[in-house]
Amino acid sequence: MRRERVSDDIYVFTSDLYAQVTASAVATEAGIIVIDTLPFPEETRLMKDFLEGLGRGKIRYLINTHWHGDHTHGSFLFEGVQLVGHQKCAEALLELGAVTLQESKESSPELEDVELKVPDITFDEGDMLLHLGGKSLQMVLTPGHTPDSTVVYVQEDKVFLAADTVMPLPYFVWGNREDFITSLQSILEFDSVESVVQGHGEVLLRGEIQEVIQSSINYLEVIYERVKRVVDAGQGLAALGRIDIESCGMSRIPLNGLVQDLHQANLYALYQDMTNSSQG
Ligand SMILES: [Zn+2]
Repeated sequence: MRRERVSDDIYVFTSDLYAQVTASAVATEAGIIVIDTLPFPEETRLMKDFLEGLGRGKIRYLINTHWHGDHTHGSFLFEGVQLVGHQKCAEALLELGAVTLQESKESSPELEDVELKVPDITFDEGDMLLHLGGKSLQMVLTPGHTPDSTVVYVQEDKVFLAADTVMPLPYFVWGNREDFITSLQSILEFDSVESVVQGHGEVLLRGEIQEVIQSSINYLEVIYERVKRVVDAGQGLAALGRIDIESCGMSRIPLNGLVQDLHQANLYALYQDMTNSSQG
């Protein structure tokens, strides 16, 4: 696990074990708010021990940005901490969480002890503002990666904890491409953001935020056209393998190359979607 600081009071933890997943923590005058956990309990425990040893008070809240296990598998370690999330996140965890957790346990024995936890404080319409010890955390639903994806903006620090709404390649297999574009556009409207903590990979600094988000939007538009051409030409799935990630404006390098698999999965999902709908 790698640890860094993006402001005086905000810490970011990055997994060494799985896809450079990030979790964050905001230290306030009245305790600590944690945003997401790391994929494996071993790393979440290290993060929790570090935060409890900071001398900044107790961990008061844990926020789930969306239901995916790589961000929520550590929730069970935060006993006595209020778990906060969007109503859609709670619903997705109740509906899909147990089955996907069981599947993950079968492939990763390290997850054996993990117990499913569901947010006990939820919000439904509009944004939610969580005020604690001089910090205001604005939680905004930004569907796209998943229907329940939420970003957290720390207003005093101007730091955006974006989770998987901003990552080195937008990945919408569990969500919706068009919603993703709308959500990314809404993030561009926040002004004077100092940094964006991505759900996977490196922290974005002020000078690069606009460009990175814009290139994600462009990617989501370009791949639609590329897949549509394949479908219109009556070509099979194999043709998707020839749509190179770089020809869609994105690098093949981030997340140790994992982005190429995400890219192919995006193309496949789009293809399935287009061919299903054209068959009526
Ligand atoms: Zn993720």
